[in-house]
Amino acid sequence: MKSVNMERLVVVGNGMAGIACVEQILRHSSVMPPPAAQFHITVFGDETHVNYNRIQLSSVLAGEKTADDIVINGLDWYMDNGIDLRLGVKITGVDPFAKTVTGDDGSVTPYDKLLLATGSSPLLPPIPGSDKDGVYCFRNLDDTRALLGRVQPGLKTVVIGGGLLGLEAARGLQLQGAQVTVVHLMSTLMERQLDTAGGQYLQQKIEAMGINVLLSHNTTAILSNGRVQGISFSNGYRMEADLVVIAVGIRPNVALGKAAGLTVNRGIVVNDYMETSDPSIFAVGECVEHQGVVYGLVAPLYQQGKVLAATITGNRGPRYEGSIPEARLKIMGVDVFSAGFVQDGGPACETVRYEDPSLGIYKKLMLKDGRLAGVILIGDLSDSNRYLDWLRTGADLTDKRRRLLSPDPVPDRGVAVAEMPDSETVCGCNGVTKGAIISAIHQKGIRTLSQLKQCTRASTGCGSCTDLCVALLKAVAPEFEEDKKKVLCECVPFTQDNLREIVRSQKLRSVQEILDVYGNGIGCEVCKPALSYMVDMTWCGEHEEDRSARFINDRVHANIQRDGTFSVVPRIRGGVTSPAELRRIADVAEKYNVRMVKITGSQRIDLLGVAKEDLPKIWADLGMPSGQAYTKGVRMVKTCVGTEFCRYGTQDSIATGIELERRLENLYTPHKTKMGVVGCPRNCAEATVKDIGLVGQEGGWQVVVGGAAGKSVRKADLLITVETSEQALESAQLFFQYYREHANFLERTYDFVERLGIEKVRRETVYAQRAVQEGLLERLAKSKALAKDAWLEREDPRTTQFVPIQPLVQIQPGEAVKV
Ligand SMILES: Cc1cc2nc3c(=O)[nH]c(=O)nc-3n(C[C@H](O)[C@H](O)[C@H](O)COP(=O)(O)OP(=O)(O)OC[C@H]3O[C@@H](n4cnc5c(N)ncnc54)[C@H](O)[C@@H]3O)c2cc1C
Ligand code: SF4
Repeated sequence: MKSVNMERLVVVGNGMAGIACVEQILRHSSVMPPPAAQFHITVFGDETHVNYNRIQLSSVLAGEKTADDIVINGLDWYMDNGIDLRLGVKITGVDPFAKTVTGDDGSVTPYDKLLLATGSSPLLPPIPGSDKDGVYCFRNLDDTRALLGRVQPGLKTVVIGGGLLGLEAARGLQLQGAQVTVVHLMSTLMERQLDTAGGQYLQQKIEAMGINVLLSHNTTAILSNGRVQGISFSNGYRMEADLVVIAVGIRPNVALGKAAGLTVNRGIVVNDYMETSDPSIFAVGECVEHQGVVYGLVAPLYQQGKVLAATITGNRGPRYEGSIPEARLKIMGVDVFSAGFVQDGGPACETVRYEDPSLGIYKKLMLKDGRLAGVILIGDLSDSNRYLDWLRTGADLTDKRRRLLSPDPVPDRGVAVAEMPDSETVCGCNGVTKGAIISAIHQKGIRTLSQLKQCTRASTGCGSCTDLCVALLKAVAPEFEEDKKKVLCECVPFTQDNLREIVRSQKLRSVQEILDVYGNGIGCEVCKPALSYMVDMTWCGEHEEDRSARFINDRVHANIQRDGTFSVVPRIRGGVTSPAELRRIADVAEKYNVRMVKITGSQRIDLLGVAKEDLPKIWADLGMPSGQAYTKGVRMVKTCVGTEFCRYGTQDSIATGIELERRLENLYTPHKTKMGVVGCPRNCAEATVKDIGLVGQEGGWQVVVGGAAGKSVRKADLLITVETSEQALESAQLFFQYYREHANFLERTYDFVERLGIEKVRRETVYAQRAVQEGLLERLAKSKALAKDAWLEREDPRTTQFVPIQPLVQIQPGEAVKV
């Protein structure tokens, strides 16, 4: 909530620069007395994701990391810091006189101070056909997911652009099995960071990985028949392609700067304090032009953010005086580093070079007036930090000339770390020195890498300093602990998050394939059911079913009892049955000498003590669908009598409950899923302690999730309040599919909702963009269409119809609304 003294700071852009700057602002605010440093912060981001590490998209494309792995600040961070986050909202206008910004959702938000951190967009050269199906960019998480969705083994893929981004995209796609060619207009790869010789070393390494490289080729058209077929070049040559990625550069997003009447050249022009030509408007990141330079790397943007945070909080300190450009290629096995001025023939520069073609090592230093002006390292980056430090500090190298390229060998990592001067930069992206890391370790009692990351931000950028950070931790932290991630089991030593991503990105459709490629080829009782669930859920039923991988109950489609007999539970939707069904159940019980007929706590009838050989006959005689009381799937929907018979009823709980069960039955879930629908808050069918509950109200429904009344007892959290039964059903479906896709195997909804936090769940389900919701519903419908009743073994025709929902009560982040 905004207090009267707070200034309103609106940030446009939820990317790396904007949020790094907000973090710095919060640091200033935390040590300043109110009101001077207090802001009410609103962040607009047109992407639908929380702040993530864009640099690591290459690792996501390569299947080395998941989207969750690259989140920098999760929703809890925004909430903890009272930040009003508006995801999926694009700011389309700025009125510098009224001091407001207008969003594409129609919102008008006033500001006292405005921070533009809009980053860049991919540069799209005017190549005919670049709008065709099969042509992609590589800038954000959605692009990455789209590429992962399209790429297949053997797919002919062309990446236009042989710069850092193009090469990383090429390698990622090749790791996904595509046949990749990199097409580059210039005669050298990464020509902005490397010289001709360096480019040739790099090209050899890229080609050795199986990626084709075509230099000096000017793409003139993308050929298609609606879908990409190939590309043509100015020399008349053509090549086939099913997928084209354009990665030729970036264009700063300056439209808002122009709309606000700011001075704009290539970027929004700022002074050394990141102030624009309007005193209330500031800018940071890739959208900014400082002293004629627009930066496309995070280290400068973070430095800008620090200066801006000090300025905006009234602590104006050192100026931003520009940065030394520095680039590392993040392709495993291809070590390339470049910083500063690297081209031959510069003014009064001397070149010192070392090459070993058989080892693929190339090093070049550019010196000016006895100081380092630039460096290229290929094949051996062990001295990159030292060179970077010389570049930053402008150290006089006169007495080091003999050993510039052959520094003393490093006998021991620990000794090398100990000998580093405290002033040396460890994390280039975030500008964190060895001294800062050591004092953080001592002062904050840091023991793990993740604590170090959180405290200093070291190793949260491109990740190339991670080894050094760990070496420092080992050397200095008395109780160093490795960060542990819980892997599924020793047969497939990956976390469940990793495995879900692997299954999806590597298109693995059977348990055995996963075990063969990523595990020990055998599997066990722990991993096989989990993997079986993952392939079923990921491919929505279009997978190779391996029944031996399922739990015993799933293999026999019945609950095994302690005496070795089985129980039979027919599905009784919403707990409503008929005399005919009851008669059939009674006949079957007598015919097969069923030992006990029991009414269960979930309004069903359990036939207990059935011999295994009688199961098929009993099911045939019953002619009723299975209640799947044995499986990790949808169990039942318990209902109260509702409006039909109850004088307190406000909603038709029976019809809604039956429909809910119809829509979700026969589907597998990470753990059993129980539901309840009640006609009013008296809650006679205990809907508020179910995994999913619908609670009737006057004029609407509350949809609640994550409840439990078993070994754990938990009152469900409110997901949303809606007006109609259809809206309630759809909200329940959105949550249901989200749980299926994101929970760990054997994780009940109550643990899942607590782990993620209900705000995140809401944002990613009922308050997600319609396209996201449609994706969830489509995948659910696809699974449902292929779901079969275990005993009737037939296609289930009961697919669902979805209508858009109109939230009745908009829940704001931080609002603790409980049933
Ligand atoms: C695949 C890849 C690999 C990279 N590798 C490296 C690397 O190794 N090293 C390195 O230093 N850098 C690397 N970069 C560059 C680095 O990611 C960028 O320099 C950095 O992300 C820029 O931060 P930013 O906040 O200025 O822009 P962004 O991160 O682009 O953030 C801007 C955000 O603002 C949003 N936005 C824009 N306009 C609006 C609007 N009108 N309303 C609401 N929201 C808006 C955008 O959607 C975006 O989410 C890489 C980039 C990519 C794509
Ligand atoms: S929950 Fe309400 S509507 Fe349902 S039976 Fe109880 S009192 Fe009646």
